[in-house]
Amino acid sequence: MMKKNMFALKLSLSACLCLISSAGAQTVLVEAESFANPSGWVVDQQFMDQVGSPFLMAHGLGVPCEDATKEVVFPETGVWRVWVRTRNWVYKKQRVVDAEDNISLFLSTHAFRVEMNGNKISAVVAKDIRTSEELRFSARFFADCTGDATIGYLAGADYRMGRECRADTGESLAPEKADTMTMGATVMWRSRLSAGPTSFPECPWAIRFNERNARRTTKAEWSWETGMNLNQITDFEQIRDHGLRAAFGNWDFVKNKSRDREAFAERGLEWVAYISGNRESRRLLGDVILKEQDILGRREFPDASVTCTWSIDLHYPDPKNTEDFPGAEFLSIAVHKRYKPGYPIPYRCFYSRNIENLFMAGRDISVTHVALGTVRVMRTTGMMGEVVGMAASICKDWNSTPRGVYQDHLDKLKTLMRKGIGPRPLRHLHLHLRPSRPHGLIRRERTLLAPRG
Ligand SMILES: Cc1cc2nc3c(=O)[nH]c(=O)nc-3n(C[C@H](O)[C@H](O)[C@H](O)COP(=O)(O)OP(=O)(O)OC[C@H]3O[C@@H](n4cnc5c(N)ncnc54)[C@H](O)[C@@H]3O)c2cc1C
Repeated sequence: MMKKNMFALKLSLSACLCLISSAGAQTVLVEAESFANPSGWVVDQQFMDQVGSPFLMAHGLGVPCEDATKEVVFPETGVWRVWVRTRNWVYKKQRVVDAEDNISLFLSTHAFRVEMNGNKISAVVAKDIRTSEELRFSARFFADCTGDATIGYLAGADYRMGRECRADTGESLAPEKADTMTMGATVMWRSRLSAGPTSFPECPWAIRFNERNARRTTKAEWSWETGMNLNQITDFEQIRDHGLRAAFGNWDFVKNKSRDREAFAERGLEWVAYISGNRESRRLLGDVILKEQDILGRREFPDASVTCTWSIDLHYPDPKNTEDFPGAEFLSIAVHKRYKPGYPIPYRCFYSRNIENLFMAGRDISVTHVALGTVRVMRTTGMMGEVVGMAASICKDWNSTPRGVYQDHLDKLKTLMRKGIGPRPLRHLHLHLRPSRPHGLIRRERTLLAPRG
């Protein structure tokens, strides 16, 4: 109950506050995600498309987080009742981008609609996740780097999700029957030693563990992976929450109940990721769909570009974890198919086959599920962005399209790729950046990448 005309509302539970006067005549809606000072709370925007809006979340490390605060002006003095939608879970590279003259960066901006002109995207509409302000980005060319291929999906681009069958692709690693399985998403966490004993609350809502199946570990690596048999987009909130339930339930058990609890007495959770790390969802289809045989057989494409250096690394639910938690696994295994590193992906995997002005870069490019196992790592996906940028500059200079770059201007793209982006002097920066170069120059450069997951 609140009685002031204007006051600083202190938030101790989250989300969207609905303040209704006792007479029921007036309602003041306060969007918690737009609080001036979110303090220890985080704005969870991963599930905007499913939930309808972002919300503030305290996902917790076993200790209460600082209050979030905002000043609210009420239309009249009186008695107000507060309704809250709550979720009580127990929060350098930007400088590089800021230093680029030709990039306008819109952080915390969620794209949710596209406007089309025939088979071209004319604009992408996005929302500021704190203020809900809508922004419209019109352009001649777009690149979908959303991981989930959201822009392409909204535009009606052809895509696949799940595993193709062996009969369709001829891949030795493909299953007999096509299915919806994907690689999963990971909630990582770690603990640290304190100067004295620490406490952690009981979490009866989390996964229940026992002496046999509890993980006596002080951190979670990539293999704490969930949701392989669920939909990594529509079920994603459930998938992330399952990861949190595994982390908190396990920690509750080892710290409060296990026979080894003394060993954990002075340990506290230091960090629990609330943004779950995705590996796979939609893959947009381009003029080439890269597959296992291309990579293992080193098929030569005329538009060879970004170089893959990692093995074909596919993840599956850990069979031991399946025994204890059938259908609700939270641990995975990785199965690697190795090949001579340095296989170049064709440029035609980086644009949509049916949306004329759409590029893509990242894990949503045109590959089979199996081929995704090698292209999905960060240095490779980063180079995709460079090649797409080069191709977009050719589109602009020569009034062409992504496909037109392959058909009519491939020599120009090759020239740009050979040149590479080079080590740019970044004003006001003291970063030691290694240049990464798409195919053409990378053969002489030893990879520093050591992917894990
Ligand atoms: C636990 C884990 C460990 C890994 N370890 C390694 C490693 O050691 N080395 C390595 O190289 N790779 C590693 N990988 C793989 C690699 O991190 C991912 O495959 C890679 O990050 C995929 O990049 P992406 O940008 O294509 O997609 P994502 O990482 O999914 O990024 C997509 C981005 O788009 C944004 N976005 C999504 N939808 C919208 C929208 N509608 N509007 C606006 N923005 C949106 C998201 O917020 C996000 O920032 C790991 C992956 C995981 C999960």
